[in-house]
Amino acid sequence: MVVHTYSDTWSLNEFFEGGSDSEEFATHLNSTAKNIDAFRTKVELWNPKDVHNGVAELVKVIQEFENVAKQIRQAGAFVSCLQAQNTKDKKATELKAKVTELSANFQNVLLEFDVKLTTINEDDWSTIMEDTFLKTLRFVLDERRERAAEKLSAKEEALITSLSTDGYHGWSQMYDLLVSSIKIPFKVNGEVKHLSVGQAANQFSNGDREVRKRMFVEWEKAWESKSDFFAKTLNHLSGFRLNTYNLRGWDDVLKEPLDINRMNKETLDAMWSAISANKQPFVQFLNRKAELLGLDKLSWYDLDAPLGKTSSKMTYQEGAEFIIDHFSKFGSEMADFAQMAFENNWIEAEDREGKAPGGFHTFFPESSQSRIFMTYSGTPSNVSTLAHELGHGFHTYAMRDLHLLNRNYAMNVAETASTFAEMIVADAALKRASTKEERIALLEDKIQRSVALLMNIHARFLFETRFYEERKHGVVNVEKLNRLMEEAQVEAYGGALEEYHPQFWSSKLHFYITGVPFYNFPYTFGFLFSLGIYAQALEAGESYEEKYIDLLKDSASMSVEDLAQKHLNIDLSKMDFWEKAVGLCVSDVEEFLDLTKY
Ligand SMILES: [Zn+2]
Repeated sequence: MVVHTYSDTWSLNEFFEGGSDSEEFATHLNSTAKNIDAFRTKVELWNPKDVHNGVAELVKVIQEFENVAKQIRQAGAFVSCLQAQNTKDKKATELKAKVTELSANFQNVLLEFDVKLTTINEDDWSTIMEDTFLKTLRFVLDERRERAAEKLSAKEEALITSLSTDGYHGWSQMYDLLVSSIKIPFKVNGEVKHLSVGQAANQFSNGDREVRKRMFVEWEKAWESKSDFFAKTLNHLSGFRLNTYNLRGWDDVLKEPLDINRMNKETLDAMWSAISANKQPFVQFLNRKAELLGLDKLSWYDLDAPLGKTSSKMTYQEGAEFIIDHFSKFGSEMADFAQMAFENNWIEAEDREGKAPGGFHTFFPESSQSRIFMTYSGTPSNVSTLAHELGHGFHTYAMRDLHLLNRNYAMNVAETASTFAEMIVADAALKRASTKEERIALLEDKIQRSVALLMNIHARFLFETRFYEERKHGVVNVEKLNRLMEEAQVEAYGGALEEYHPQFWSSKLHFYITGVPFYNFPYTFGFLFSLGIYAQALEAGESYEEKYIDLLKDSASMSVEDLAQKHLNIDLSKMDFWEKAVGLCVSDVEEFLDLTKY
């Protein structure tokens, strides 16, 4: 057997040498700026009504569109890696602002492009779309045309976009800055350490309740001490968003996130209805977990507490082998991809101070390479996160030969591939478990994921929809935010907890993401959608991988309803599919309750 030693730090030098001081990167930014200008000129000169040259001209504009988009994404990916690996890298923060500005400029040109698309009448549009190349981009181009028609004039939208750099995205950057300033004092082995929020959060899966509780007290205190800043940030960010919607005449805050996720309201309602109707088994699970921990009821800080002995640590090498091994049972392409990522230093996993919290995957389109960021301390949840991010990576890898415009999958679909990868690892581990104790621990880990997706994310969704309704009437203060959050948590957890986390609206970065509004339900969608696919994969065996890759390839060029109909033969706007998917999670709970009965 070959024993691998994979590096747990990534390499960024093949993109741009020299980190945030990179001259190569500075040159890249300059050339991107120039190319945006050139693209602007091209769009301005393009006459969409010239039907005679219509196709050829449009093709040229789209080629340039793809090139510039690749350059900007390459820059964005590099900067997010720089920021994540060292939160003290001030230069990276400056670079981030530059990329945001370039991106806003590019968006402005695209607005003009989109508005020009709307001036082409239906007949001419149909004729143009008969072109073999353009036909492959039909869904995406139709979508751009439709969305542009629902917005303000190009001039007004350009104004909004240019103001958003400071008035909107700036607030999100303010949030990151505030979070990086937080240090949580914590006594470890008699010595007080000042932990970053990422390191602190890892303590919630500590086996010792006293440690978790002590951390929770410090944790709430830390967020509370800055809650005025967070409230101001959140209010301005949401205020900007609501004002924009208002100007466009949109009164439903869900309109934009639903459009972005290429799904309809019926599908979202059907999903949450199926979840709300099936809370009870998960409440039973939480009650049983409390019993097993010797408690009357769980508190927020007990949710991630480990139950069994399988929570023993896994080194990074073991984690890597474990993931590759289990991916290979599903299909060779996914396993080969993961191995390539480990071998080529695509992953930053080292456990050290100064790193940003959380995990992410990002893609460098000009190099056709992925990078994965996380902090690996050896917990089972770290292994899941690693598999999760590799799932994202595999998704972009599956689409590598498609036109860039057909690779922009929405967030809900993005979480499908990641969850699918997580599930393979979780289930394979469960199958291999030799003792009852191990089985319980692994099942618990799996159910924890369901609890996160069907309860935690549900709370986020309930909070966010209600917060936005309140915000329409004025600024929402800290007390009210706390109350809204706690109410949402009580409802989403079916009242199963003793103590909740009212400051969660400040500690959860997702509420501050400006790139995408409402980054909550797409996770749950992806999870349950994934389960549906996974169930089919289990029936089909190894031959399924090809089908799975076909689905991933189509995932950015049709609505989710059409995607499900085409590849799974399923109607997403009906509750059946969602109930069935939730049912798979419930069966884990049933098995768990059975195994832990005494
Ligand atoms: Zn993800």
